[in-house]
Amino acid sequence: MNANFIMSHDVTTIIGLEVHVQLKTKTKLFCGCSAEFGASPNTQVCPVCLGLPGALPVMNEQAIELAICAGLAINCSIPELTKWDRKQYFYPDLPKGYQISQFDLPICADGYLEITDPANPDATRHIGIIRAHLEEDAGKSMHDEVAGKSDTRIDLNRCGTPLLEIVSQPDLRSSAEVKEYLTQLKLILTHLGISDCEMQEGSLRVDANVNLHINVDGKKVATPIVEVKNMNSFRAVERAIEFEVERQAIDWQADGLTINDKPKTTRGWDDSKERTFIQREKEESADYRYFPDPDLLPVRIPREQVEEIRKSMRELPNVTCDRLQSQHGLKQYDANVIVNQGPQLVAYFERVADVSGDAKRSSSWVQQDVMRTLKERDMVIDEFPVTSVQLGELLKLVSDAKLDNARARDVFNYLLDKESTVEEAIKSLGIEQVDSSEIDTLCQELLDANPNVVDDVRGGKVQAVGSLIGQAKKKNPNANPQQVRETLLRLIGE
Ligand SMILES: [Zn+2]
Repeated sequence: MNANFIMSHDVTTIIGLEVHVQLKTKTKLFCGCSAEFGASPNTQVCPVCLGLPGALPVMNEQAIELAICAGLAINCSIPELTKWDRKQYFYPDLPKGYQISQFDLPICADGYLEITDPANPDATRHIGIIRAHLEEDAGKSMHDEVAGKSDTRIDLNRCGTPLLEIVSQPDLRSSAEVKEYLTQLKLILTHLGISDCEMQEGSLRVDANVNLHINVDGKKVATPIVEVKNMNSFRAVERAIEFEVERQAIDWQADGLTINDKPKTTRGWDDSKERTFIQREKEESADYRYFPDPDLLPVRIPREQVEEIRKSMRELPNVTCDRLQSQHGLKQYDANVIVNQGPQLVAYFERVADVSGDAKRSSSWVQQDVMRTLKERDMVIDEFPVTSVQLGELLKLVSDAKLDNARARDVFNYLLDKESTVEEAIKSLGIEQVDSSEIDTLCQELLDANPNVVDDVRGGKVQAVGSLIGQAKKKNPNANPQQVRETLLRLIGE
């Protein structure tokens, strides 16, 4: 019935996202404690991040640089002046009683992201970004239920780690667009080394503000806004939004309440029940009683610093993708697959392509053999045993018809497990590059012994040479099948 309601009415879904990403700094935002994930609870803390009396914060320059870099990548302007404010609230995992954040002068403002329109892959959608600001993270409460009794423990390691909160305009219109936006944002931020963006580890968190605009007799009616939290994967974000759209349509049909009747509420996503549930009525921002942090000076950002960061920035992923197509002649799909693996794999591919002189073959080997092995061995490309130069040399031999694909794969597998040059590997495997006069002799012998094949081919059955290729391979395992085939056809034609 709801699907019917949504289909039969003119309903527009309005979604805005607040995305928190943890910046990849060595240390926390205002102290020297390590910001690394995964240490034993409460081992990465000091008086500053614990908020002990008298401790003074010192700003982390690297966090400022990463935030500027992120801002430039999402087309924001970087104001000359930014400042720190205290956001006050009480929560057990926030020992200071306030969070240092940015209220009215964020470090990045007024940007946008172009995303592919999921409804039309040839079109793009322009998603506005209101602002991106820096803030420190709170600790983590772990709610356990051990042996039937509920228990909460607190890990303060995360207290004070730097977050960038990226706030979009309510420009997103469907769960598919949200997925596209998040995918694009994650690709940019990981590509530039700004954040790991791992939802499972909490280095990327998404809150979604969702409501509906319903056309009633030519007038737009907006349903109350709901902020959805606690989604721990992109899939969960999509499902939570789809659930909310239906739920709000049902509620509106039942009670007719609009945005003017009901303040914004917060709902959590329950992944196992696949539904959202009410968490709390939202405080207005005034409730946090923001005020400028008296311990921290406002930050001036010189224009030269912004320009320096802009110049030193790595190429953006969409630019790399275009370049792989124009410079190496890859198809868009293949370029995307490689770019999505990150800049290290792009660099690896480009070196293989340069050394081999054969970008298409390089692309297919990188996407198949290399990526499969990385996955099987759970390693990153920087640890890969076959270097880009080795793979390039190997593929050049294939392109020059000195090795066939099967033999090249043997060499590749050998290099995976043994330190060796390509040449040594070929020797150790007993592979001999066969000289073309040998192939000529071999083919001539086969043709002399099989006159029926010659007749068949001359009669138009070209595929008849296939039976001789197998025989050639038996007589000389090093013979390249492609070369044998070409030689056979040439000799028959003579
Ligand atoms: Zn600390």
